[in-house]
Amino acid sequence: MSIHGGKCPKCENTIANVYIQPVDAKVPFSTEGFKAVSYQCPSCRTILSVQMDPVALKISTADLVASRLSG
Ligand SMILES: [Zn+2]
Repeated sequence: MSIHGGKCPKCENTIANVYIQPVDAKVPFSTEGFKAVSYQCPSCRTILSVQMDPVALKISTADLVASRLSG
């Protein structure tokens, strides 16, 4: 018995894990962009959610703090 009860909204398979795929997030009418990740159903690859890449965000924040401290 799985303790994970969540189901994919498309294929309705129970989701115990997700695929993570890097994607680019772009701001309309701007050259600004961010690294993001999409979370996908492992059975049918439907995108369940997209968010800012937490690893890239952590690294860019650490780089910004380091540059402010040294400058
Ligand atoms: Zn699915």
